[in-house]
Amino acid sequence: MSDTQPPKVLVCDDDMMVRMLARECLESEGMLVIEAENGVQALELFYEETPDLLFLDVNMPLKNGLDVCAEIRATPAGRDVPVLIATGADDKNSIDRGFNAGATQYKTKPINWSLLSRDLRYMLRAADAFKQVQAQKDRLSYLAYFDQLTKLPNRRAFTDQLEAAVADVNKHNRQCALLCINIDHFKRINDSIGQSSGDEILRSFALRLYREVESLGPIVSDLDTPAAELENDALQFLLARPGGDEFTIIIKNYESIQEVENIALRLLQVLSEPMKLGVQSFVITPSIGLAFAPLDAKAAEPLLVCADAALHNAKETGRQRVRRYDSSLQKDSAEQLRIEQDLRVALAEDSLTMVYQPQIDTRSGKIAGAEALIRWEHPELGFIPPTDFIEVAERSGLIVELGNWILRRVNSDALRSEGKFPTNISVSINLSPLQFNQSDFVDNIIETLRELDSEYTVELELTEGVIMTDAEANITKLKRLKDLGFAIAIDDFGTGYSSLSYLRQFPVDTLKIDRSFINDLGTREGDGLVESILALSKAMSLTVVAEGVETAEQAIFLKKRGCQLLQGFLLERPLSPEGLIEACDKDYNQLLGGE
Ligand code: C2E
Ligand code: CA
Ligand code: CA
Repeated sequence: MSDTQPPKVLVCDDDMMVRMLARECLESEGMLVIEAENGVQALELFYEETPDLLFLDVNMPLKNGLDVCAEIRATPAGRDVPVLIATGADDKNSIDRGFNAGATQYKTKPINWSLLSRDLRYMLRAADAFKQVQAQKDRLSYLAYFDQLTKLPNRRAFTDQLEAAVADVNKHNRQCALLCINIDHFKRINDSIGQSSGDEILRSFALRLYREVESLGPIVSDLDTPAAELENDALQFLLARPGGDEFTIIIKNYESIQEVENIALRLLQVLSEPMKLGVQSFVITPSIGLAFAPLDAKAAEPLLVCADAALHNAKETGRQRVRRYDSSLQKDSAEQLRIEQDLRVALAEDSLTMVYQPQIDTRSGKIAGAEALIRWEHPELGFIPPTDFIEVAERSGLIVELGNWILRRVNSDALRSEGKFPTNISVSINLSPLQFNQSDFVDNIIETLRELDSEYTVELELTEGVIMTDAEANITKLKRLKDLGFAIAIDDFGTGYSSLSYLRQFPVDTLKIDRSFINDLGTREGDGLVESILALSKAMSLTVVAEGVETAEQAIFLKKRGCQLLQGFLLERPLSPEGLIEACDKDYNQLLGGE
């Protein structure tokens, strides 16, 4: 009922007299009246005309008023419409039957016509107030359960979805699948294009996800999908965005695990297609973790842990992939937790060390620089490769503390009063992306390395990926570091996605050709690639370090093509600080193929 239109009343009675009298007194009060003379007609008119109120006689042909009332109440449109039941019987029994059928009001015949319109007005007003409260409540529960950005169910809703799905699995001996979807590098994307564009990407991603899932089967994650509708046997989906760049799908009634895996692969493909944002095109890739109830876990929380572990594994093993949970991942995460805890202890006890791998100048045959590399001898597990524990440190945030420890240790190793590094060498330090992205990184590094930087060239090694994401901000940051006297090296060059010409806009001094390219030397392609990197670097006045030089052939090739610096086991393994000081007197010309 709206404010402008008169209320519409459907009067249903097989007694024409009653209908006439009703029309008479209701129309004179400004109401609109439509009439039905039996129960079937009453239902038809109700659906066609959607009246604001029903006046229902109990005893009617074809269908009695109580049945009409009950049927209307069972439909969404008729759930809240006020219904007045009118009958000649005034015994308690029929009153009860009327209310059981869903009547709002009850009147016994004969009707007091002079009071009817007033009673109906009261009923309409009450219904209106109820509707407003209901709308308010709907809005509140909508806000409480739906994410405003993507309009998908939020974390709270997801928790309910998962609890209900798992309860259903256990109660009815069924199964369900949980997919955890995460956008690769979303933080970087967000940082580099700004939050509002980041929001736009999330919205588009959510919409694409929704459309694709919708094409596979009904999405039943709306607020009040009646439980009854969830009981059938066709494929069903519940979607949510529990937070940030996390999305979840619960799948029910699938036929096989293979079917779910295919769905996940399909989503991976569709979600990875380029996305338009304004004039720009982005490639956003997701990683997907999969877990199944009751196969992997029987309760909601553990099922989520499993899907999460699978997701982590998808990310660790290269991203943009689907991983299914298996029990080896559980072991992994327990192991990682232990490494994290032990690493904290090692940091506190100062039991980590740094080693220094020389970089040999191909012209002089002498050490020109050294790369600082961290070492950890675990008291029980023995040597743990840095790639293993750095990854754990990055995930747990411990990397910032670890990074600071490395800076301090390199500083003290190089400047130790009993044996300083020769000042004509440069010292390279690897930076983790997380460390470099700290807002106080530059201030922090000046503070820690002030002394060192005034005596040595300190080179900071960063991978392409770190520099390219958020390029604008990084150019400023790198310029600042360069102005302060630091040199910048691109580590693992060639493994990322940048072209040399694109790199030109960054204030970079050194390229470190990744080990994999040096390893490919001797093949025509490998030779060609390294040759072109060397030629371009020369044109751009970049210093080149070849990493992982293991054979004399590689060294000779590189020296011949003008590669300035070589680093690798052929020349020297990483050395202790004392070992490095000693090695600085050595001549490596022989290893480089002689003079
Ligand atoms: P990276 O920065 O590329 O370091 C070079 C790695 O190659 C070192 O392994 C080094 O020992 C190894 N290497 C050098 N020459 C050869 C060779 O001829 N053959 C082979 N097969 N390997 C060679 P390491 O020390 O295990 O470090 C591995 C990675 O761990 C490093 O790769 C770097 O990404 C990370 N890392 C090591 N130390 C640090 C550190 O202090 N801070 C940070 N953030 N990362 C570090
Ligand atoms: Ca490095
Ligand atoms: Ca490297």
